[in-house]
Amino acid sequence: MTRPRYRLPAAPTQSAPTQSETAVPEPVVEFPHADPAIEARRQAALEAYHVLDTQPEQAYDDIARLAVTICGTPGAMISLLDHDRQWFKARIGVDLEQTPRSHAICEHAIRTPDRLLVVPDTKADDRFSHIDLNLAGAPMRFYAGMPLRSPDGNALGTVCVVDTVPRDLDRAQREGLEVLARQTQHLLELRRYAHQQRRLLAEREAFAQGLEEARADLLLRNEQLQHRAHHDQLTGLMNRVGLAQLRENPQAMARLTSAPYSLMLIDVDHFKQVNDRHGHLLGDRALQAVADAVERSIRGGDVAVRYGGEEILVVLPSTRLADAVEVAERIRTRVKQSALPFSLTVSVGVAGGEPGMAFAEQVFDRADQALYRAKAGGRDCVVVDDTPMLA
Ligand code: GH3
Ligand code: MG
Ligand code: MG
Repeated sequence: MTRPRYRLPAAPTQSAPTQSETAVPEPVVEFPHADPAIEARRQAALEAYHVLDTQPEQAYDDIARLAVTICGTPGAMISLLDHDRQWFKARIGVDLEQTPRSHAICEHAIRTPDRLLVVPDTKADDRFSHIDLNLAGAPMRFYAGMPLRSPDGNALGTVCVVDTVPRDLDRAQREGLEVLARQTQHLLELRRYAHQQRRLLAEREAFAQGLEEARADLLLRNEQLQHRAHHDQLTGLMNRVGLAQLRENPQAMARLTSAPYSLMLIDVDHFKQVNDRHGHLLGDRALQAVADAVERSIRGGDVAVRYGGEEILVVLPSTRLADAVEVAERIRTRVKQSALPFSLTVSVGVAGGEPGMAFAEQVFDRADQALYRAKAGGRDCVVVDDTPMLA
């Protein structure tokens, strides 16, 4: 809902009034409040209730209903003084949902925040004779308003009753209006408290979410760090730190060795010469090409480790020797086909391991011996371990 803004009456320092303005004298209304600091505090206090421009509510309507019943008037309002308007949280007998603040008797009522303001005849009072407020077609003639006061002493508005005839309130009616103002203030305090709680809850939820995000971020960073620590930068293969950690993990080891498995050792042939002839940069590229050939030849569950400078260890779980030899041949062929400015070959030693045989070192040694024989046999070949198995 867009609410109309009202113009403040001219400040006293402005230019002298024209003839036509002086023709109809406006009563002098100190508006909004003489002290801007006090008014700013009052406005801030009011806004803390988050009540302005909200929908009608039964609890506030009931207070207005009680006010007319107690005071026997045709009209009652709960009026809140906001910037340059008075806005009615509840109203009976009045069609408008707000008026300019310069036309609010409540404006005067809040100047004496601990006292009921009674104006027996508004038309006979110079301060209010300019105010036009209609009650079912007839102009307002009577006003009585009890200020609403926040716990820290800011006057927010009033609970007021209005009538179309000049009159007064008896003592009981005056007391009744005071009680209703206190009850209205209680309602407002509850509202402010509920709003605060909602805000705190939202803040706590946002904080918890931030914490959760930070935790997830930390976990991710930790994972990245672990990955970096356990993998070789040049080839991206697992390094010996990663292998050592793997060997300390019983579940991972069980996964690798619970069925007949194979282990292969791959060593680049004459790699020293590659470095010497083509430089370390191309040597590095050659190592990357070998790693690439390995990765493209093995399965997801297989583990490839850069074991030494130009040596790669591959564990193939649930893989019989014959199948492992096929994989080794694939690697050997792919290395030869690498797009390098020189020819590159590898020698591979392959050995098989049985589940229940805890001696992975023994399998490693067999693969190493097979590799030795591959080198001795002229390189660029795959040799399978053929030494008899020990029980
Ligand atoms: P063989 O066929 O008998 O295996 O001969 P080789 O020259 O490959 O054997 P050797 O083990 O004597 O040489 C390995 C070389 O690998 C020595 C070292 O300079 C090189 N090397 C080890 N790590 C790296 C690396 O990260 N980058 C490069 N460019 N060279 C490396
Ligand atoms: Mg070598
Ligand atoms: Mg070597």
